[in-house]
Amino acid sequence: MKNVAVLGSTGSIGKQTLEVAAANPDKIKIKVLAAHVNDKLLEEQIEAFKPDMAVLTDEKAAQRLKSRYSGQTKILAGREGLLEAATYDGVDTVLASMVGYAGLLPTLEAIKHGKDIALANKETLVAAGSIVMDAVKKHNVSLTPVDSEHSAIFQSLQGGKKDEVKRLIITASGGPFLGKTKAELEDVTLEQCLKHPNWSMGKKITVDSSTLANKGLEVIEAHWLFDMPYDKIDVVVHPQSIVHSMVEFNDGSVIAQMGLPDMRLPIQYAFSYPERYNNAFGQLDFVKAGTLTFLAPDTEAFPALKIAVECGRQGGTLPCAFNAANEEAVYAFLDGKIKYTDIIKTIEHVVAKHQNVLQPVLEDIENTDAAARAAAHEYLSSL
Ligand code: MG
Repeated sequence: MKNVAVLGSTGSIGKQTLEVAAANPDKIKIKVLAAHVNDKLLEEQIEAFKPDMAVLTDEKAAQRLKSRYSGQTKILAGREGLLEAATYDGVDTVLASMVGYAGLLPTLEAIKHGKDIALANKETLVAAGSIVMDAVKKHNVSLTPVDSEHSAIFQSLQGGKKDEVKRLIITASGGPFLGKTKAELEDVTLEQCLKHPNWSMGKKITVDSSTLANKGLEVIEAHWLFDMPYDKIDVVVHPQSIVHSMVEFNDGSVIAQMGLPDMRLPIQYAFSYPERYNNAFGQLDFVKAGTLTFLAPDTEAFPALKIAVECGRQGGTLPCAFNAANEEAVYAFLDGKIKYTDIIKTIEHVVAKHQNVLQPVLEDIENTDAAARAAAHEYLSSL
């Protein structure tokens, strides 16, 4: 039995995690639920799972919930409440699925308190990969990927030894704008952007997926998770999202993990590893899936991928600056304040200005995040 804290329980991954938990009541016990502001949904989740503790980081939302809730679950508020939840004694595994950089500190605290991590929050590794991986080693906890591509690589790596790996091949759906030219992207709308062809995800990651920034973040995530140099990580576009990623070994053999594009599978595997649980999710029908195609990513139209990978190669605080600029630009786009193509311009501007700090400590990461956000805001308000 895993005693689990779900950080980000009202988001897309959080909700699907609770479906997985509901399907495996003898294997996964939800002890803590944490969300940002959605008090209504969190209350429903409390009724359904009866956790020991529930947190809303937004103080007003927490106050609303406290004023009407009279059950046994302890209700906490704010960032302190979140840190208490992430380090709670009754929990052995923390599912980190908060969106963006905000996931870093609670995840790090959970690691320091000996919790195993099921990681859905890739920004944590992008912003502070060396610090997080050092903490994982020092505190001897496991860090299991939830991201579908990384779950696929994690599963495929079991087909050989680490020194036999020639390269990791991360697949990308290409998103809703696959095939569009740079000029055609000038006029795309938020509504078009949020229509992902295969995956049902939160808004931030859906925009990231359309710009290929998400794939850039995933290359950096893979570098840290699997201790793999950037030269050994490739990206290939695979519009059907059936092959979730692959590992090529030095004899030329390629092992792929396949399945329907359903996040519940990698979520469940993060809990079940090294075993596999039965489930009633949809099964892959190869005849229905039909033709599987692969093509090179278009880094001319979607430069965020190559910029992210270059930031990853240079290391230090640069990936953190990339991430902060991207987050701020994506939220401005989601708020209708900027054009789609302004996202990449903001990233380019902030990354070019950044003074890189190699071998950063946590304070350097925090300073970089704040400075890059300020630089992004300044640029965004000049548009
Ligand atoms: Mg992914």
